[in-house]
Amino acid sequence: MVNTTIKTTKSQEVFAAAQNLMPGGVSSPVRAFKSVGGQPIVFDRVKGAYIWDIDGNQYIDYVGTWGPAICGHAHPEVIAALHEALEKGTSFGAPSVLENVLAEMVIDAVPSIEMVRFVNSGTEACMGVLRLMRAFTKRDKIIKFEGCYHGHADTFLVKAGSGVATLGLPDSPGVPKAATSTTLTAPFNDLESVKALFEENRDEIAGVILEPVVGNAGFIAPDAGFLEGLRELTHEHGALLVFDEVMTGFRIAYGGAQEKFGVTPDLTTLGKVIGGGLPVGAYGGRRDIMSMVAPAGPVYQAGTLSGNPLAMTAGIKTLELLQKPGTYDYLERITKKLADGLLQIAKETGHAACGGQISAMFGLFFTSGPVHNYEDAKKSDTAKFGRFHRGMLERGIYLAPSQFEAGFTSFAHTEEDIEQTLAVARDVMSSL
Ligand code: PMP
Repeated sequence: MVNTTIKTTKSQEVFAAAQNLMPGGVSSPVRAFKSVGGQPIVFDRVKGAYIWDIDGNQYIDYVGTWGPAICGHAHPEVIAALHEALEKGTSFGAPSVLENVLAEMVIDAVPSIEMVRFVNSGTEACMGVLRLMRAFTKRDKIIKFEGCYHGHADTFLVKAGSGVATLGLPDSPGVPKAATSTTLTAPFNDLESVKALFEENRDEIAGVILEPVVGNAGFIAPDAGFLEGLRELTHEHGALLVFDEVMTGFRIAYGGAQEKFGVTPDLTTLGKVIGGGLPVGAYGGRRDIMSMVAPAGPVYQAGTLSGNPLAMTAGIKTLELLQKPGTYDYLERITKKLADGLLQIAKETGHAACGGQISAMFGLFFTSGPVHNYEDAKKSDTAKFGRFHRGMLERGIYLAPSQFEAGFTSFAHTEEDIEQTLAVARDVMSSL
């Protein structure tokens, strides 16, 4: 059972001290709870579907360390594999068999990936893919979508989602105009806009990058035909299609959104789940394009800790666990129960809301919707979301602290966890 009220004295003390030590008291912006108000809680440990804070409160967790924890936190088999790997050392900075194993698993799973390069984060994966798409096409411009987040590299900090959306930063100071002058943006799910950009920038566009299912503007699914339309347009204009599956990879389906929707991009970025909770990112795709990456080819990209043996081990074990029959059916079932339940409760308690779910990724917007893109998402009542978030937190449910983030489930979440979450949501929504 989780608690129904919380005392957070220690969290408050530690976070107050942290604010003097680190900008905003955090190592990554959204964690500071700026958009929902109130103080963040400070974690002590995580296990399965639960987290415990330093005051001893227990929460059902729907953030899952922002996506990696699809097997539940600290899965015993992942921990055991890590113990074993740890005995052999923490970093080689040289080839290891583990890289081959994870590379083969990724190549087998993800339809677009014939070769892969491991890096340490999603940001790095997107930076690598950006250089590669420009080198391969000998073109500089790219198209991204409003509200999509591809890490914090300069070129992508234009109408970006996640913390940039949450904090309302249109761009970031320190990003030179030259770095974003080649970034074209379009509304998500709007093929006509993309078509127009291709017409206006003939033979200049290297490619289109997108989250095939958006998580960084809240949960937004692609409309029927959108991904297919992008595939056709990129083919027609000699440009590359890049799916940023850092969030959706091994979550929307084992082979990612590209498997789920049957649209194969040229290149793909991965992160989160493939590191099983340790820092890993990857980019991969067509062999002819990936062969351009150094040292096979001239496109430079490197990393001291890339392919780290502990990170590879956690990734391998996590993917093995995901291969067990029935995993994705279970994830779909419990997440649908949660997302449908939240919508039904919102309706019954008189709140305008919309949302949805695919596999283990879900969202709820406080607007009647429908939400097809970031402009639609921004119509949400973010103040109400803040009150909802705080109410849930105080009753032991940990949701992402922003209206513009997706929620994540894991196969450690039980039907009972979902039912308890819905009971709490009913309580909270009735009092909003
Ligand atoms: N792309 C997407 C789709 C993401 O969701 C994220 C992180 N939320 C990133 C890239 C950046 O990954 P990281 O935070 O590991 O740098």
